[in-house]
Amino acid sequence: MTQTAQYDPSRLQDIVEAATVLRNGGCVAFPTETVFGLGVDATNPNAVQRAFVAKGRPSDNPLIVHLHSPSQMDLYCHSIPDIAYKLIEHFCPGPLTIVLPRRDSIAMSVTAGLDTVAIRFPNHEVAQRLLREVNLPIAAPSANRSGRPSATTWQAVIEDLDGLIDGVVCGEPCGIGIESTVVDVTRANPTVLRCGGVTLEQLHDVVPNIVMHNQQVDSSVNSPGLRHRHYQPTAKVVLVDSVSEMDHASNFFESDLRCAYLGINKLSEAITSKLVHYSYCNNEADYATALFRFFRECDNLGVQLILCQVVDEIGIGRALMDRIRRASGS
Ligand code: AMP
Ligand code: MG
Repeated sequence: MTQTAQYDPSRLQDIVEAATVLRNGGCVAFPTETVFGLGVDATNPNAVQRAFVAKGRPSDNPLIVHLHSPSQMDLYCHSIPDIAYKLIEHFCPGPLTIVLPRRDSIAMSVTAGLDTVAIRFPNHEVAQRLLREVNLPIAAPSANRSGRPSATTWQAVIEDLDGLIDGVVCGEPCGIGIESTVVDVTRANPTVLRCGGVTLEQLHDVVPNIVMHNQQVDSSVNSPGLRHRHYQPTAKVVLVDSVSEMDHASNFFESDLRCAYLGINKLSEAITSKLVHYSYCNNEADYATALFRFFRECDNLGVQLILCQVVDEIGIGRALMDRIRRASGS
């Protein structure tokens, strides 16, 4: 682990030191397969408060609790339905978060006063070693300032949170690059509250009656985080449907705006020559991995407008489009 003032990557994987800081009520960022998390002891209200303050996160936005083993669940949740075990069997450890009835052992502030708690088992060696070492439930929101693009590299964590947290356990850039899928199993039909690393199609195969929550149609689902501003770079994000639309978007490029492009389809040289930054992705999964990092690169380059290619909302494309839309403010 490094104190955030020191950036020596060679010193960043001291799991034992990080676990001690967490046990003592500290705030430590660590890598997961989705995005970097900002970990705090979920049983310690003061520690939890520190994560909310460091992020500038609204207190009505509940945190996900990370565990290393399903055997820990009974300590923190109750009335666990069979469907939860089925989901765990198929997708855990992995980018799936399951909402369950909470026990009082979890600090009330973690769940923003809800009587449920969101649980995840990350599939990342460093995260798992840290969770095993500390052996406490670790509440870990994404390790970015609230509203900003999630951090998918340790450098991005430092960019946002240097001086506000106790350290970062470093690691490689996150493989998936967008957050976990959140499924509420406390309802009559298991309900996807947020799309993420596990796709709806994968979930359907295992749980045929799973439904997708639509906030516009059904406001009864209580997942307050869905309301908040999210994932936004300083630059304005604009969705473009196709390369031909890009060609017609010449008004952007003829303007004085500093523009960038992220997508799968390649652009003509006439266009790329006018861009401050662009990157091509091999497929939707690569696009998801690249998204938040690209947003941050654009901010660092003073980009004012980021054009993002629209993809089909199937597979990981559904979560990807959700993040791009929210980043665009729509
Ligand atoms: P983040 O930490 O930014 O990945 O966001 C976690 C998200 O998980 C929140 O914004 C909520 O939408 C969702 N969540 C966490 N806990 C609960 C819960 N108890 N019930 C419903 N949704 C939850
Ligand atoms: Mg977040």
